[in-house]
Amino acid sequence: MSECLFCKMINGDIKADVVYEDDHVLAFNDINPQAPHHFLIVPKEHVSTINDLDERHEKIIGKLFLVAKKVAADMGMEEAGYRTVMNCNAGAGQTVFHIHLHVLGGRPMLWPPG
Ligand code: AMP
Ligand code: ZN
Repeated sequence: MSECLFCKMINGDIKADVVYEDDHVLAFNDINPQAPHHFLIVPKEHVSTINDLDERHEKIIGKLFLVAKKVAADMGMEEAGYRTVMNCNAGAGQTVFHIHLHVLGGRPMLWPPG
């Protein structure tokens, strides 16, 4: 997926402000943060949308949340709380078609999100 922005960040072709990395996922600060803390967690395997997930992705989807928990705690958001969001398709606000879990915190989060 050479045209994919997040694949390019995973490959190192485009620089990312990395907050966590292992063999399976990369997490980096959002370039246009919507909260004092706003980072994205992406699987290193390209998957375009939630609609493209199947059973073999079960483990990596769990991993996204475990990394969210770890990095949120490292950033001191554990007690105050934080929001996780994964948009699916343009109608829900998805603009980069490589699945990513948003993690936002450092301010009160409103509901409904709009
Ligand atoms: P979504 O709209 O759910 O697809 O989220 C895409 C997110 O990627 C947005 O919050 C963007 O601000 C963020 N984004 C786009 N380009 C970059 C980049 N080069 N580095 C970090 N975040 C980015
Ligand atoms: Zn990709």
